[in-house]
Amino acid sequence: MTLEVNQIKEYLAQPRVIGLFSHRNPDGDALGSTLAMQHLLVQMGHTVKVMVPSEYPQNFEWMPEVDKILVWDLDSEDIKAYTNTMDFAIYLDFNSLDRIDKMGEYISNKTIKTWTIDHHIDPIIISDWIYSVPEASSTSELVWDIIIQFGWHKYLNTQIANCLLTGIITDTGNFAYSVTPDLLNKVAEILKLNVNYEFVQNAIHNTMPEKQLRLLGHCLINRMEIFPQFQAGLIYLDKEDYKNFEIKRGDTEGIVNYLLKLKNIKIAAFITEQPTITKISLRSKGDVNVEVICKEYFKGGGHKNASGGALYLPLHIVVKILKEALTKYNNI
Ligand code: 5GP
Ligand code: MN
Repeated sequence: MTLEVNQIKEYLAQPRVIGLFSHRNPDGDALGSTLAMQHLLVQMGHTVKVMVPSEYPQNFEWMPEVDKILVWDLDSEDIKAYTNTMDFAIYLDFNSLDRIDKMGEYISNKTIKTWTIDHHIDPIIISDWIYSVPEASSTSELVWDIIIQFGWHKYLNTQIANCLLTGIITDTGNFAYSVTPDLLNKVAEILKLNVNYEFVQNAIHNTMPEKQLRLLGHCLINRMEIFPQFQAGLIYLDKEDYKNFEIKRGDTEGIVNYLLKLKNIKIAAFITEQPTITKISLRSKGDVNVEVICKEYFKGGGHKNASGGALYLPLHIVVKILKEALTKYNNI
């Protein structure tokens, strides 16, 4: 996909008021790519705000300037006020405006310049410029590529490096998938920017509150089902679990991946019953494509090996639909 370097550079030659947007339940890549872009554009003299629909998990609280992010669920009035003054919106790490909920409807009414930078399959956002690279490990990797291709090396600093590294670490499952020699070369360059690698690793992976580890224990002992016939496993949490364990956003992060530790499991499902919606996360090993399952059965999408979706149906029905999907995709 082409990068309209000259056009975008020309547009950014004068100070702009820029909004950087990323998806609901922002992960390390959503935060890393938007915050890195903010650190970059601020140095060039632009006014910049990062805006996301919902809160971020506590293991990203250390990220530089993450506390300045506007969250629609908490600060919708501030977001409305800022977007009224905005002349450029950059959409990072999502491929469809419904991934930013109400903010999407709200911004699409405005006549502003827009740029999509993303690594999800089939972007359906209408924007002036689109840089979509589904083969990329992460949107953070794409932000790195942009910095290099635009010749913006002089703006690189430790803050940008920490943000990009976080996105790459989280979207590759800590360098388990989407890893190429090219990516590792970029990571080597990122590490040269005075990054404390051990600090970043510990901050992302080893800062869990006790109740979260106990919740994981509950999931593995009481809420795990294995379907050997489909080489699949399921972990689910119902509304009662949410009450009993006082589960907050982010507490369930990463639980789905434990199923993939099993030798004969190729598909992992994690289903959570929330107040009005039942959410599903699917993960897979190797060539098994869970994106098609999420699209067909759960009004969602994502990537080949990591996708999600949600239905306005009770937990037991969503489990039934999952089994139907597994039956179909097992026969292909
Ligand atoms: P998670 O299971 O962690 O919520 O999401 C895994 C991946 O699937 C992420 O890359 C996310 O962007 C994508 N994803 C999750 N939920 C949805 C959804 O409802 N719609 C779409 N299009 N993608 C989703
Ligand atoms: Mn991503």
